[in-house]
Amino acid sequence: MKPFHLLINGRLVQGDSQMPVLNPANEEVFADCPRASLRQLNEAVAAAKAAFPAWAARPIAERRAAVIKMAEVIEANAEELSRLLTSEQGKPLAEATWEVMGAAGFFRYLGSLDLSMRVIEDSETRKVEAHRRPLGVIGAIIPWNFPLLIAAFKLPPALIAGNTIVLKPSPTTPLTTLRFAELVADILPPGVLNVITDANDLGEALTLHPDIRKITFTGSTATGRKVMAGAAETLKRLTLELGGNDAGIVLDDADPKKIAQAIFDGAFMNNGQVCLALKRLYVHESIYDEMCEELAVIARNAVVDDGMKQGARLGPLQNKMQFEKVKEFLDDAHKHGTVIAGGQPIDRPGYFIQPTIVRDIAEGSRLVDEEQFGPVLPVIKYSDMDDVIRQANGTDYGLGASVWSSDRDRAHAIARRIEAGTVWINKHLDLAPNVPFGGAKQSGIGVEFAEEGLVEFTQLQIINA
Ligand code: NAD
Repeated sequence: MKPFHLLINGRLVQGDSQMPVLNPANEEVFADCPRASLRQLNEAVAAAKAAFPAWAARPIAERRAAVIKMAEVIEANAEELSRLLTSEQGKPLAEATWEVMGAAGFFRYLGSLDLSMRVIEDSETRKVEAHRRPLGVIGAIIPWNFPLLIAAFKLPPALIAGNTIVLKPSPTTPLTTLRFAELVADILPPGVLNVITDANDLGEALTLHPDIRKITFTGSTATGRKVMAGAAETLKRLTLELGGNDAGIVLDDADPKKIAQAIFDGAFMNNGQVCLALKRLYVHESIYDEMCEELAVIARNAVVDDGMKQGARLGPLQNKMQFEKVKEFLDDAHKHGTVIAGGQPIDRPGYFIQPTIVRDIAEGSRLVDEEQFGPVLPVIKYSDMDDVIRQANGTDYGLGASVWSSDRDRAHAIARRIEAGTVWINKHLDLAPNVPFGGAKQSGIGVEFAEEGLVEFTQLQIINA
């Protein structure tokens, strides 16, 4: 395999040290990865700062053309990027390809947005214009579940708005991002995009850095709090996309046979390691047994294997820490509920867990109250609508939710009562670059995607003549 490099000031450079990256399907070292030092982080920020004025001064059409070119480069190298992604992240190759092509789609769509000046008043007494100016250097911090896709949520709007970037992937999934950076390095002027890596030790320095104007962060709520505290020092702008504990509510008029597969996919995509995965399923008592059994059958038949193997529906969990955490949720499931599918780690090298369905479980158990971020779904019985809405809202999270019913109006009325940034009807986990997405309560601050996400990478400037 070709060696990996950091991208600093337009140059591919070695890290001040190296770190291993494991393949979660066999726990073996898969590649050696450069690890940046604090000195290199400072170099990257200085390069981004120096590149900013000229990049911001370019016409937006030129910046958009560069972003669209990046989409093309991702597409042209999709096979290599997808294989790399499966090797470091664990997801089945089909899902990795979906992520890589999805990333290209986000570059293409978000790279075509426009930022125009708006006239607020043009009268005898005043002419007032609202302009959107870039902020400066953006620090982008990425988690390990969708390394390329989440970078594709952030880079295009940051770039077309005229900002420059220092991007930091997660220590357990840095390679796809580094290869991507290498492939697009020539498209942008030196310093406009810099990519550094760390061993979970440089995030704080980014949040504290006086020359970074905004942090766009996706990760856990716990780390999000630290990012916010660090950013307070210099009053940085923030977009925080954090954790979730999405509830799905199945009404008594839904048909379990019809919806089981979509519910399973919404809960088990990427092994449940999705911020917006369906993480608690509430089912009306009249169809509870049938719904549980439909889900259990799908879970029992799902093939769990190395993501490189043809036919694997679920790969390993991404890293050892998450594997250990999900095993704790399995213990909790056995203690507080009835496990009707899966329930165990798989006895082989790699971080494999059987897809697990747990019934007869309720609030008060960890599996229901906390974010499991793994392939273990609790199915909770309810009888009263007001009470199930209370339970769905009874969390500090508020990322997504879904309502399942054969009566769309009825589902809609319930959706309006749920405290979440996105509520789906008869589906879960449907994201698109033209639909803004953000969390309520402690699931985040701000939004991504669409014009609403783009303006978060700008400063409003009023010119009042
Ligand atoms: P994490 O919070 O542990 O790490 C995310 C990133 O933050 C990594 O790059 C990490 O190196 C960096 N980091 C660690 N300490 C830091 C610090 N003190 N300051 C700044 N950065 C620091 O999250 P994770 O375990 O990689 O991802 C899983 C979590 O992310 C889940 O809770 C999931 O719900 C959430 N998530 C949210 C979204 C969303 O859009 N809302 C999307 C994906 C994942």
